[in-house]
Amino acid sequence: MKLFNTLTRRKEEFVPLEEGKVRMYVCGPTVYNLIHIGNARPMIIFDTVRRYMEYKGYEVNFVSNFTDVDDKIIKKAIEEGVSAQEISERYISECRKDMDGMNVKPATTNPQATQEIGGMISMIQTLVDKGYAYPAADGTVYFRVKKFKEYGKLSHKNLDDLQSGFRSLQVSGEDQKEDPLDFVLWKPKKEGEPSWPSPWCDGRPGWHIECSVMAKKYLGDEIDIHAGGEDLIFPHHENEIAQSECCNDKIFAKYWMHNAFLNIDNRKMSKSLGNFRTVREISEQYDLQVLRFFMLNAHYRSPLNFSADLMEAAKNALERITDAAANLKDRKAAAQTEAATDAEKELLAQSQEFVKKFEEAMDDDFNTADALAAIFELVKFANTNVSEESSSEFAGVLLDTMVKLCDVLGLKAEKKEEILDKEIEDLIAERQEARKAKNFARADEIRDELLAKGIILKDTREGVKWKRA
Ligand code: AMP
Ligand code: ZN
Repeated sequence: MKLFNTLTRRKEEFVPLEEGKVRMYVCGPTVYNLIHIGNARPMIIFDTVRRYMEYKGYEVNFVSNFTDVDDKIIKKAIEEGVSAQEISERYISECRKDMDGMNVKPATTNPQATQEIGGMISMIQTLVDKGYAYPAADGTVYFRVKKFKEYGKLSHKNLDDLQSGFRSLQVSGEDQKEDPLDFVLWKPKKEGEPSWPSPWCDGRPGWHIECSVMAKKYLGDEIDIHAGGEDLIFPHHENEIAQSECCNDKIFAKYWMHNAFLNIDNRKMSKSLGNFRTVREISEQYDLQVLRFFMLNAHYRSPLNFSADLMEAAKNALERITDAAANLKDRKAAAQTEAATDAEKELLAQSQEFVKKFEEAMDDDFNTADALAAIFELVKFANTNVSEESSSEFAGVLLDTMVKLCDVLGLKAEKKEEILDKEIEDLIAERQEARKAKNFARADEIRDELLAKGIILKDTREGVKWKRA
């Protein structure tokens, strides 16, 4: 399996630090609003990377944080007149709903910055003790960038170039820094903001330190894959490397993966530009599986432009898969014979070619667009070769293969049951009540509603019985 490593700017063979295991960290969202579909791109991409690793037999320890202390959260809390915690808790819960809708697997651990302050203070202290960080007069603690000789290795920036760029950007209030490149690890509290005591001052952590600390705590000093959107390469990930490698004296992450932007009218979708669509808005128009398909139909390192046409195309394409799977399910259930014939066995052997193509595409830096193309070849093959004469084994094996490959991409090939047993029972109870109250119009309405969903009611002496049509 090869993946593109931002650190070396090459596709490299994936070799885990520990055989059979993957330690993976993905920078998560800052929770002050509903997530937009730009934020959804890394969620879907790296969930797919995880799923493919699991399919290959790796045990994946997948850690993704929620940044729940930040200027934007505090600003929102002040606007609403509530606590910062109330804001972050609300949007973590909303974010989880969206992730569930997009079929993003829950992380092994979802740490929150505010729960990890002790670890942050301890890492900052180590950096101070080792001479990599220093407190200024007001209690702000800075990282001494020039002391880390490898600074810039991820973003491929040269310290001298950075230096000249920064000098011109230097703003007042930063003159307590030894060097314009130095970045904040800990900052003093401001009135009305959440704060924690520390050896330097009451205050709160800088953003970069949280990821270094959470990765260390939940994955160890060395991890296999660190991932996020490409806007995080500099300075966030560069700073994480500086903090972690200076603290732990180990290479922080072996592979760095970054997704390109989701754009709208060829500009990055972002909250600050105001050109965003929330996942929630999309879910009102489409099943979020369609959004997932739309994202996976492009390579993760290519910019992707959001458009209504592409979403419609994604919807239609996904339907071709779900229709084929539904057809296979019907054929399997209605088959006249059980075991596959020799000719069918031969066809099943041929169909393994699509599995091979799928794996080759995924092994090549997660080329999900080609992996989807392999699934469509399987769809076409199934539509051509399965008929009323097919055995249940033949239809069943093709169905299982289709479902399995789709599942690696987090796509559900089999449509979920339209209505759950519990909902049916509730509607039947309501119908009985309506009848008792002589509201026959409502009773008939419920019967018709159920019928439209394929549920047939039968009034018997023992009560109302139902079955799926
Ligand atoms: P944020 O909440 O802005 O820190 O972003 C959370 C994650 O979403 C990070 O990995 C970002 O890189 C990523 N992200 C934000 N906007 C976009 C976008 N338009 N396209 C792709 N990824 C994005
Ligand atoms: Zn991070």
